[in-house]
Amino acid sequence: MAHRVTLIPGDGTGPELVEATRRVLEATGVGLDWDEHPAGEDVYHEEGTPFPDRTLASIKANGVGIKGPTTTPVGSGFRSVNVLLRKELDLYSCIRPCKAYEGVRTRFPETDIVIVRENTEDLYAGIEFEKDTDEEEKLAAFLRELDDTARIREHSGISIKPISVAGSERIVRSAFDYAKANGRGKVTAAHKANIMKHTDGLFLDTARKVAEDYPEVEFEDRIIDNLCNQLVSRPEEYDVIVLPNLYGDIVSDLGAGMIGGLGLAPGANIGTEAAMFEATHGSAPKYKGQNKVNPTALMLSGVLLLQHLDEREAADAMERAIADVIRRGEKVTYDLKPTRDDPSAVGTSEFADAVIEVMSH
Ligand code: NAD
Repeated sequence: MAHRVTLIPGDGTGPELVEATRRVLEATGVGLDWDEHPAGEDVYHEEGTPFPDRTLASIKANGVGIKGPTTTPVGSGFRSVNVLLRKELDLYSCIRPCKAYEGVRTRFPETDIVIVRENTEDLYAGIEFEKDTDEEEKLAAFLRELDDTARIREHSGISIKPISVAGSERIVRSAFDYAKANGRGKVTAAHKANIMKHTDGLFLDTARKVAEDYPEVEFEDRIIDNLCNQLVSRPEEYDVIVLPNLYGDIVSDLGAGMIGGLGLAPGANIGTEAAMFEATHGSAPKYKGQNKVNPTALMLSGVLLLQHLDEREAADAMERAIADVIRRGEKVTYDLKPTRDDPSAVGTSEFADAVIEVMSH
């Protein structure tokens, strides 16, 4: 039976990237029944909302979707579609494999790591108090009352960092489950437990307990600054890395840089109600409609989608074909050429043709 999957073209370069990815996914032979719905800036102009109810209803009904990037215009008054999606569907686990494929220019060719980032807590919980407001002054006074060593200077802004046992437990489980399902041997938990004992310390304690349920997967932990240092000196020693929200955000971009750039970094957002697959990069609006940008990141997100649907063989064949096109380096987009103005670069859609061609042999 065909898998029913919500398809969201997004805006900017999103529709071109989604179309290229859809064609490659279909060429794997897996039955996919697309349920297409809009999100982003274009539908905002037409319908007054960047995230129509029917789009959300479709993802909830299908439980799985693939999405092109969506623009969040600065000062537009509309909320980020990605934030809405994450909140509505409780997409707590952001999984970003960072693998350096042969043929990509990178200083870190040994990189093959998977970053698992918690998506709902930490300093990103949105609990913030502006300096010099009543609320901030009350909170500062209250904190001093609770702890007379708490030093909060005048004119301070305050952001709160909540990290819960339940939130830590489910993200660490998500990392171990991914490791098990994908034949990965080690999970590293990153933290700053030596300084933030009650938040990062809790995260680390919880991770240690969860690790006991997965004796077949090795577990270790690293202090976040040391992890960053080691990632760029010995990337081959790392496998799956699980992190609270803020560190996960930063290390995800570090990982994308290590594998050759944003055009190559895929992602999956997994939650209790649904799973949504999308590239790490944004809508690159300046290239909209030019058939120019690299579809690899979204295509590799498509590989993650196939893995999630348990279509392992198709996922492997699709990844091999993408890797093959990159390794040959002929029919690739401008960002994968030695210079950005290389006239032999192909467009988004021709890159997809090349991947389909490899898969058909
Ligand atoms: P961006 O990722 O869209 O682009 C930054 C630059 O990276 C581009 O100008 C381009 O040079 C390069 N790049 C990005 N994707 C590429 C690709 N596939 N191939 C080749 N080069 C690529 O980041 P931005 O300009 O900061 O954001 C643009 C918009 O996207 C913003 O409105 C932002 O909010 C939104 N955004 C959306 C998502 C999402 O939907 N998941 C994620 C990040 C940003």
